[in-house]
Amino acid sequence: MGLLEASVAVVHGKVVENFRMPSAEDAYYETLIIPGFSDGHAHPQVVDGGVREGRRWSDSYDWLERRELAVDEVKVRRDLELSKRLARLTLLRGLLEGTTLMALTGRLLANVKALLSLKHRPRAVLLPTVMDRAGWTLEEVREDYAKASYLVGDGMARMGIFVHSLRLAKESTVREAISLAAKSGAVLGLHLGEGVSERGRFLEVFGRPPYSIRIVPVHCIDDDMSSLGLSCVACPATNVMLYGRTRRDLSGISAFGSDWPLLLGTTPMHLPLMLRAFRDSPLSLLRSATVGGYRLYNVPHDGDYVAYDASLEEVLRERRPPSLVVVNEEVAVREGRLVEGGYALSDVRKAVEEAVKEALDLYGNGHSASSLLREHEELFMRWS
Ligand SMILES: [Zn+2]
Repeated sequence: MGLLEASVAVVHGKVVENFRMPSAEDAYYETLIIPGFSDGHAHPQVVDGGVREGRRWSDSYDWLERRELAVDEVKVRRDLELSKRLARLTLLRGLLEGTTLMALTGRLLANVKALLSLKHRPRAVLLPTVMDRAGWTLEEVREDYAKASYLVGDGMARMGIFVHSLRLAKESTVREAISLAAKSGAVLGLHLGEGVSERGRFLEVFGRPPYSIRIVPVHCIDDDMSSLGLSCVACPATNVMLYGRTRRDLSGISAFGSDWPLLLGTTPMHLPLMLRAFRDSPLSLLRSATVGGYRLYNVPHDGDYVAYDASLEEVLRERRPPSLVVVNEEVAVREGRLVEGGYALSDVRKAVEEAVKEALDLYGNGHSASSLLREHEELFMRWS
């Protein structure tokens, strides 16, 4: 047995100096974070957020209606191979950035296949998206659900369901989604209050607590659901990019999500933006971005941590990728490279660009992948 030492450790959001813990081998790092980062809301098949210079939307429904995407989203998610590849790249990018738990919406079967294709992977909460629209209907999800429940059996993933939003799913769809998910003790996620208050409608559909299922609302720019015993996943990056505003403090929020991991990177890459947008202390934000997501989704975090050859200040403000990433006591990233395959973050980012290019070639309108990625990244950096 060896000893892992760190000059500074952040353990569940608390700073401990000169930290030591038993480990498989002797090692020293400047900064250690326990557990690793949680990405509480990620769409692994989103290759275009519709972000364009000078465009702004009032709320999520306005965005869904008026955005002009460079790619046909339904065709992308129906292409199981491509959807799997996008999900796999999302997971690899997440690991290399220090994300040890990801809540994945989108195409369930593709996400499950991506998880199973990797020996080392983040923990996952599987939240297939449902809405009353072709490509996302409950019937389509039900089919994948049966296959996925069979495939997920190693305890590293939790099942759930994601009702896209209250206006895009009838009450009967919500009820059926609950009964489908509740069978496996699952979580129900939904976009809520994304630019417009939906608390009233939520109460009409779900009533008051206690609820028969764990409910995790996402975004909540306009609703604080804490009086109903609910806590939210905030996605400040897409909030500011799409609507020009986000919540400014952690009231009613206990975790963060990247929303578009392939375009913007996973939660740790959003730390500079969080620090700028929120009034809370860096440590409170770090706590939400790490253990917060685990608690919200009730996922164990034993043996999950990330370590850096960089100071805590650099980790918080400079998007430093970790040197070491450990999930469930197994090393997934060593010296900034995936143990499986040896890829570094720059390799995976190149592969993301190739996959986005393929999606655009197959199902797009001629927009170039590099300019699409650049447009998203530039706007993201401007807000960070
Ligand atoms: Zn979302």
